[in-house]
Order: sequence, then structure tokens, then C-alpha cells
Amino acid sequence: MNKVQDVANQVDNMTHQFKGNRNDTVTAISNLSLSIKKGEFFVIVGPSGCGKSTLLDLLAGLQLPSQGRIVVNGERVSNPSLTRGFVFQQYALLPWRTTIENVAIGLEELGLKRKERLVKAASYIELVGLKGFEETYPHQLSGGMKQRVAIARSLAYDPEVLLMDEPFGALDAQTRESLQLELLEIWRKTNKTIVFITHSIDEAIVLGQRVGVMSQRPGRISHIVDTPLFET
Ligand code: ADP
Ligand code: ADP
Repeated sequence: MNKVQDVANQVDNMTHQFKGNRNDTVTAISNLSLSIKKGEFFVIVGPSGCGKSTLLDLLAGLQLPSQGRIVVNGERVSNPSLTRGFVFQQYALLPWRTTIENVAIGLEELGLKRKERLVKAASYIELVGLKGFEETYPHQLSGGMKQRVAIARSLAYDPEVLLMDEPFGALDAQTRESLQLELLEIWRKTNKTIVFITHSIDEAIVLGQRVGVMSQRPGRISHIVDTPLFET
């Protein structure tokens, strides 16, 4: 059993069901328990439809589980919060805002003045390797660069955990590979807990310190693998 202070995310015996089209019940998550350590890079891998996105939404507090509970850093998750940074496949940048404005969005909620927000945003833009692109609009950036802006935006809130839903799924193979290496570099520099979902076993092995394997049925993690290739 992990000591409480070492655990970032604790999921106890969680089940989540949806109402299907014909009023039937779809069980997306079934009696799932999971413990993710602070600072860990945890990857969840599994085929389409096995419940990965649902699990991540539940960790984010975007949905509440039908049964069971989730605790993040000692607090029960009951609502969405910027302290759980979310990175989506489709970037979700505001098209009429520059890079620096996109990253600075939301920092107001942390109570920072405009000057402080811009300084902070600029430092995260530098962290993701986009120094010089502060005044650029999303349509002027490649897919990989847009995703780096999205990562900078999530990290700028200083989230307790970074939740990433197939963030590199829309990128070409070469861009995906360089973003994977950059993300590992960012993880090492920031010591963030990262929960990353993918349907690619290759990606899971490259990125994960531990990899949770989800199977199609019954919506739970069937086993957890310590990746032998991982060097810290
Ligand atoms: P994955 O991310 O692994 O592709 P999902 O979490 O998206 O899987 O979906 C898991 C299962 O739950 C699937 O059978 C999917 O059709 C179902 N599901 C997901 N979201 C909903 C929803 N909002 N309403 C009904 N069924 C859903
Ligand atoms: P992914 O494989 O990337 O998770 P999906 O197509 O499974 O993509 O899901 C995309 C979104 O649609 C998710 O937010 C999920 O909750 C929702 N969704 C998936 N299946 C269903 C469904 N049967 N009915 C309603 N919403 C669904």
C-alpha cells in the first residue's frame, strides 16, 4: 500500500455507466481500482471503446462516477478544476488569440496581474520550445506547435496532474515522435504527475513509467506493466 502523500490519484472500485440508445445500459468502467503515484508518468493503453476517455473524464471531474470514488492529492474529485490540466487531441485553442494570450488565459483565476500573467505565459512558451512565436495565431502554427501551445497552457496553471487524452493522435509520425521526446523532457523538468491515454502500444512503451492495460470488456485495467525500456 502506498503512503497517502505519495499517491496523486486514487480510484477505488469505480463503475461508470451510460444510458445507451435503446435505454440499455453501457458499462464503460467496471469496478476499476487504480493508484497513481505523485510525479509518475502513467500511461493507459487499450483499444478504441475500452473506456479510456471515460476514465480520464472521471479523473478530471468532468463526469461523476456512477459508483465508487476518486481522490486526487487527498481530495475527493467532485467537479472540474483547472488544477487538473487537460490536454485534448484537438488542441482547443482560441483561434483569434495569439500564442501568449492562449497560454495566459485562465491565469486571471490564479489572481495574477496582467504583467505577471504574460511573464508566466512567456516562461511556459519557452519551456515547450516556442520562444519567438508569442504573437503568432493558431492558424499560422503546425499541428505539433499547436499541441505544444496547449501543453504550455495546461502547465501554466501549475496543475496537480496533467491529463492527456490521445494528445498526439492527430499528428504525423515524425512530429509525434519529437513531441513524445519533448514531453518526456518537460516531465523531467517539472516533476508533474502525468496520466496519458493512447491506443498505441508503441507510444505507451516510449512514454510510460508504468502502463495500465485496459481491455475491451469489462472496462477495467487488466494489468499494469513496468516498462523495461524506461530510463530515468
Ligand atoms: P475509448 O476512449 O477507450 O475509446 P470511451 O471511454 O470513449 O472509450 O467509451 C467507452 C464505452 O462507453 C464505449 O462503449 C462508448 O460507446 C461508451 N460511451 C462513452 N461515452 C458515452 C456517452 N456519453 N453515452 C453513451 N455511451 C458512451
Ligand atoms: P476516443 O476513442 O478518442 O475516446 P470516442 O469516439 O470513443 O473517441 O469518443 C469521443 C467522445 O464521444 C467522448 O467524449 C465520449 O464520451 C463520447 N461518446 C463515445 N461513445 C458515445 C456514445 N455511444 N454515445 C454518446 N457519446 C459517446
